[in-house]
Amino acid sequence: MTETIGDRLKLLRKSHHFTQKQIAKYLDFQQGQIAKLENNQRKLKVSSLEKLCQLYNCDEEYITSGIKDETKHNIAFRSNVENLNLDTIANMNKIIRNIEFLADKTESLTNNNEEFDEDYLELYEKAAICRKLWKIDEYTPIDIFRVVLEKINNVTICFFETEDNLSGSSIKTKNQNIIFINSRHPLGRQRFTLAHEIYHLKYDDEFINCDIDHKNDEIEKKADIFASSLLMSNGALYNFEIENNITEWTLDDVIQAEQYFQISHRAMLRRLKTLGKISERTAEEFSPDIMYNAELRGYDLKLYQPYSEDKNMILGNYIKLVNKTYENDLISESKMNELLIDGFYDNLVYN
Ligand SMILES: [Zn+2]
Repeated sequence: MTETIGDRLKLLRKSHHFTQKQIAKYLDFQQGQIAKLENNQRKLKVSSLEKLCQLYNCDEEYITSGIKDETKHNIAFRSNVENLNLDTIANMNKIIRNIEFLADKTESLTNNNEEFDEDYLELYEKAAICRKLWKIDEYTPIDIFRVVLEKINNVTICFFETEDNLSGSSIKTKNQNIIFINSRHPLGRQRFTLAHEIYHLKYDDEFINCDIDHKNDEIEKKADIFASSLLMSNGALYNFEIENNITEWTLDDVIQAEQYFQISHRAMLRRLKTLGKISERTAEEFSPDIMYNAELRGYDLKLYQPYSEDKNMILGNYIKLVNKTYENDLISESKMNELLIDGFYDNLVYN
């Protein structure tokens, strides 16, 4: 049996766990039209073909004639994608594609990444080694965004406005580390997500990771424990207790600690609960109205608000790659401008 265009469209959709309804919304079609496309009862327009290639990060030749480029990666999700806006995924793929394109262009000019082999270590030990590598002692609060941009080679952090249940995702491709962070989430949560994605980039063999409501996934749990230890080691927490004479944690102490370590209220409560320092009930009691409670105690509310006012923003290697590629005459000026606009650097193009 020969595979048809419709077969491949269906295969792509199913392998990404998308529904016909989502694809219809993404292409601005009636739902019934998607079934027709997949049954070859309707022809695929060029504009739809382009959009689908953006969504699946594949070449047009794959959809039209089944020729596959195995080197291409895209954002795939472990679970629960029904509510996701597919434009978000298409946009993420565009950034990945741009970075892959730039990495190919600058291949001979770029450093290689270090490889890690620490599989035998406990999660908290992995976090401790990470800190050591970055020359940050066990007790100091960690400025994770700055540290990641400074210490990890070829890293790009993309802030994207997306659905609430998606915290972030990451991909390692062509020696580039690409991390997506939901720009709508508060800083404390974004910091946690970043630390979580570092785990994937360093210790996961899979190329692609993405997290949505991941409560029951083993790898996700590991990444969470790693993130929590990286931002706040057990030693640092015990130290904090001693310095502040804490025998029984009050809400005052919790907020003081989360402000000190710059860790989200939820992550702080979860950690204390895990260590048996507060009960399930106390955690629930301390949970609500954190903005109000922090303000009442005279704290800066930045931790509970997004990192940046910009909904979409890219930090790190992306812009460096664009500049390097252009300066070495590997792309035209118009291509450079296109890449800058894709990366939300409009101001550099129009000023
Ligand atoms: Zn994850």
